[in-house]
Amino acid sequence: MFLTTREIKFVVIDLESFQERENEVNAIIETCSRLGKVLLVSSQLAGPALQSSGTAIHYAKNTGEQWLFANVLRRVLSELELKPTSGVFITNSHENLKPAHELMLGTIVTRFDDESDQEVVNIFQQFPDFFIRPSKLYECLTGEFVGFAGEYYAAPPGIFIFKKPEKPTYSFSRVPNLKNPDCPIAVAGRYFDMSDARYFLHALSARIINSKNNPERQAKCFGNILLRTIRISTKNDFDYITRVPPKPSQKVDRLKMYMDAFADHPLFAREDYDKKQLRPDLLACEKEYHSLKHYSYADRLKVIEGVFSAHNDVKGKRIVLLDDVQTTGATLNEAIKTLKEKGAAQIYPVALAYHPYAVQTLALAVPHHVSCKCGKKMVPRCKIDGGEPFYGCSDGFNKDKKHSTITFSESVKTQLSVLEPSVMKQDEEVDAWNAQF
Ligand SMILES: [Zn+2]
Repeated sequence: MFLTTREIKFVVIDLESFQERENEVNAIIETCSRLGKVLLVSSQLAGPALQSSGTAIHYAKNTGEQWLFANVLRRVLSELELKPTSGVFITNSHENLKPAHELMLGTIVTRFDDESDQEVVNIFQQFPDFFIRPSKLYECLTGEFVGFAGEYYAAPPGIFIFKKPEKPTYSFSRVPNLKNPDCPIAVAGRYFDMSDARYFLHALSARIINSKNNPERQAKCFGNILLRTIRISTKNDFDYITRVPPKPSQKVDRLKMYMDAFADHPLFAREDYDKKQLRPDLLACEKEYHSLKHYSYADRLKVIEGVFSAHNDVKGKRIVLLDDVQTTGATLNEAIKTLKEKGAAQIYPVALAYHPYAVQTLALAVPHHVSCKCGKKMVPRCKIDGGEPFYGCSDGFNKDKKHSTITFSESVKTQLSVLEPSVMKQDEEVDAWNAQF
């Protein structure tokens, strides 16, 4: 599902990313033209040859200089007075996703199945709203295909741009596991932390935060999400379900709680699962280890090496291994190693959400051309009702001080004037506005 886009009025196509794919990009343009205005964006004049650009605006200016792609996007939004909340950005590479997210556009990455595992991981690092084959594009733009199962089942009805579909098609993502290539991770959704503007529109992230102190409250919801993801990702072809075990000092076993919630789910009986397949006892954590937050993958591995033990029953079995939020995958890969050493035949990791390192700094990557009344940086934010983007204070939760906000379009204009002062003329109005800060 699109997080920031509320109503699709225009589609921005990243022409350069579709080099060598002329037929494909023409088909994409045709599909998008049925739904709204199509803008083709390129930071250089040479894009693929276009056969069906009838309704399209080819937006690339011959200024003789190469612009940063981010600035081309800013310019398109600013000069055509487009609201990012009514737009979707379509690309075939991870490279230009970051500026699109910073500018609060919905994002789609097309998948042609010839991407390397590394490129797929790079795409996940940027968290597009959809990563789909072009044949799914129309369904996705019209709201029939909702994307991540976890985000669909976590969301209240009001968060959908379209009416929440009663019988949606939803999916999961298979994230390549570069350390254990035979164990790709099926993930049910994304997790944004509070430094990301999209956090405020993302029910799954809010529920994950809530589950840290209140796992009972989320057990039913997360049990449902995990069970559905197991079902579609394994096609029910496995022997046991277990989970990454909690540390000895952790009194609450959250993942076991979600597994217990499976057993009461109507789907559990309907799909012919047996309660005997639920085996939280297959993995145990024998040693205490300290928090892995802020550690690199290599350091995490060192801390966690040898802390788990596996039950003899895993020998020769195909095992679903549950985890909540994936970051570097170090804990998960240590659990996989432990199961393999005991002779498990196959392991299918399933995680509630994926949270790569790269996105933690997303909000901070935007140029800070202005600061708040209180002196702190302004960062992109979204209003919870309606998703309207704006710039607000990074210290805005501090109620003791007075804070300022600015509109998104004003901010983009100023960003352009700061980033491309020779191209962008600062008019008096902008100067006056700048002087306030
Ligand atoms: Zn402030």
